[in-house]
Amino acid sequence: MLRSSRIVGMSTNYDLHSHSTASDGTLTPTGLVERAARRGVDVLGVTDHDTLDGLQEAAETARRHNIQIIPGVEISVTWRKRTIHMLGLGVDRTNPQLADNLSTLQQFRDWRAEEIGRKLDKKGIPGALQGAKHYTQGRILSRTHFARFLVDAGHAATLGDVFKHFLVPGKPGHVSGRWASLNDAMNWVSGAGGVAVIAHPARYRLTRTKLRELLADFKKSGGQGMEVVSGSHSLDEMRHMAAVCREHDLLASQGSDFHDPEKPWVDLGRLRTLPAGCTPIWQAGVWQQIHRL
Ligand code: AMP
Ligand code: MN
Ligand code: MN
Ligand code: MN
Repeated sequence: MLRSSRIVGMSTNYDLHSHSTASDGTLTPTGLVERAARRGVDVLGVTDHDTLDGLQEAAETARRHNIQIIPGVEISVTWRKRTIHMLGLGVDRTNPQLADNLSTLQQFRDWRAEEIGRKLDKKGIPGALQGAKHYTQGRILSRTHFARFLVDAGHAATLGDVFKHFLVPGKPGHVSGRWASLNDAMNWVSGAGGVAVIAHPARYRLTRTKLRELLADFKKSGGQGMEVVSGSHSLDEMRHMAAVCREHDLLASQGSDFHDPEKPWVDLGRLRTLPAGCTPIWQAGVWQQIHRL
């Protein structure tokens, strides 16, 4: 059945950033895709952290619904000692090199989780590693799983409080990231036929100069897009990032960064409209060449 928006020619609803239980989302890939379809999303990017594990199930579910899946991944990158997130959109989910390279990040996550557990234990919070694992359903151990444990065990009121008082620099349970280099992540994405997009650029709290340097390095290594509309961007941040996107002649992407129906930064498919003057990534030539499911 065709969605009525397609029949009357209304615009396609794109949401190109979301998470499932394959990483730190709370809906299974099936639950995620079904919710997106119910919310009117026409094209959903499934972009779990450092894994492709949810993509097969997402593809199978999408076949039963009127929705297209862009197979993706959100790769953790270390750039000048900071953690940056790079989306690979439209990657071939069966690309063995990509899976193999992502497994090195998964192993770092395992080591980091033990380290976080040890550090929290020293600060009088025992059992955090086991506690965090209790919230995982996939291969990926995320700080989000520790955060859910810390909230439910009464050490913090909200996830936001955890990321103020724990697991961040200078606070109990912090461990520095040792993720992929920008160039490596780029090569992994393009090697798997995808297009690279800087995720939620306003989240990194970079100065204007540093943001320019990041985007220059990103473009030099072959990056093409940045998120302008993100569930984690305020209206002002979105406007600023729209200007930055135009200035750097990057393609603009949009995504909710949906994790959890209970605590959505924004719900699936309920995104602001991309500001005028930005070229949407789906209107660029590169979009015709990427993988879809
Ligand atoms: P990790 O990649 O394991 O270091 O965990 C990072 C994840 O923590 C992000 O992908 C978010 O899902 C989550 N996160 C970071 N900051 C916050 C916050 N202030 N509130 C809720 N979740 C957050
Ligand atoms: Mn996350
Ligand atoms: Mn992210
Ligand atoms: Mn994300």
